[in-house]
Amino acid sequence: MPANGAAYPGLTAQKIFYNERSGVPAQPSPAPDRAPGAQGPGPVPLTLASAPEADGAPAGEILIPGIKGRARRPVAKPPRHLADLPMAGRRAAVAELGQPAFRASQLSRHFFGRYTDQADEMSDLPRAARDPLAQALLPRLLTAERELACDGGTTRKTLWRTLDGALVESVLMRYPDRVTMCVSSQAGCGMACPFCATGQAGLTRNLSTAEIVAQVVAGARLLADGEVPGGPGRVSNIVFMGMGEPLANYANVLGAVRRLTDPVPDGMGISQRSVTVSTVGLVPAIARLAAEHLSVTLAVSLHAPDDELRDTLVPVNRRWKVSEVLDAAWSYAGTTGRRISIEYALIKDVNDQAWRADLLGSLLAGNLVHVNLIPLNPTPGSQWTASRPADQREFVRRLEAHGVPVTVRDTRGREIDGACGQLAASAR
Ligand code: SAH
Repeated sequence: MPANGAAYPGLTAQKIFYNERSGVPAQPSPAPDRAPGAQGPGPVPLTLASAPEADGAPAGEILIPGIKGRARRPVAKPPRHLADLPMAGRRAAVAELGQPAFRASQLSRHFFGRYTDQADEMSDLPRAARDPLAQALLPRLLTAERELACDGGTTRKTLWRTLDGALVESVLMRYPDRVTMCVSSQAGCGMACPFCATGQAGLTRNLSTAEIVAQVVAGARLLADGEVPGGPGRVSNIVFMGMGEPLANYANVLGAVRRLTDPVPDGMGISQRSVTVSTVGLVPAIARLAAEHLSVTLAVSLHAPDDELRDTLVPVNRRWKVSEVLDAAWSYAGTTGRRISIEYALIKDVNDQAWRADLLGSLLAGNLVHVNLIPLNPTPGSQWTASRPADQREFVRRLEAHGVPVTVRDTRGREIDGACGQLAASAR
């Protein structure tokens, strides 16, 4: 159980969002047949963080046609952490502990600016106040279970264990001009994409805002300490492309985006323009994110330009079709001025045909968009594999012929199970 029983921000708001704003039907319809060759799992539970509410109300549920939704088991809420709270909430929490409110800003500078939660490193705080403040507001939420490195130490993957035993992953990738951290937003994922290792295992629970931020703070600390080859450095870019569907954990992910991008001491001071939120295409949540007027980049995991195939590769497509997802994306680009990134994992003989490249090109042409082609990283036991080099080249050529900018993503970290969810899967 968490050390304190304080209500966790976000969960209630999200439940309301999904039940009342998303328009997701209350009853799932029968699952459509999968495409031949699709080796996806059967319907998987799709749940919100399922800790019972303080008033005893049942845990939230998201229901999507073809995907049954019911909370599987109660899971513990993480204890409160200052990264869950905006500055006003931190000041109130500090005051409750009998300390002057300005200590909130001091503690925040330690965590967001110096990347420490260690009381003995906080020499600007009175000795007697350090331990109680750190214990109450900076609990250690994640423990490194395994750490793997490759690319001469410039790619580091960490498998984290949460206090209630869930496993999540983050990856730090240092390039000559930037450091990108790929973070998880949920333990597991409920979206059931059959080519994704995380999708095979189902959702355990949403991560809290602080559990998301803590992944980045840990990477920032490594860099600041000069433990990543290349000299001391800073985290410059964040991608929500680890485990989980960020927009299914909307409130906590939004809180994390704010903590990551607000200036020190409110947050870590990373540029909003350097943050990418990647989604399977939860249309109401895309609209909601656009209305926040942030400058974060939206990535849409499309993987197929036609509904027939996308229904099988990204099962939530049964609820929101390709055209609806793209309309939501164009409207996001219109509101924010940010170019949409279309993610497309190239799977041999599944979605890499020349006609699909042409169809994709015609759907995207003329929009503020960039296509990121990802050679499929096969999950263990999968019969699918990456496209032939010639097919990949032809796919690129056809998109370019439609005037659509396209790059093929580098495949860093493959040798350390870099693909989504693979490290956690191998640890289970
Ligand atoms: N749920 C979010 C973010 C997590 S996955 C989303 O789907 O966008 C980050 C990206 O990795 C997504 O584009 C996802 O489709 C892709 N991905 C997952 N498994 C993969 C695999 N085995 N090979 C290549 N890309 C994969």
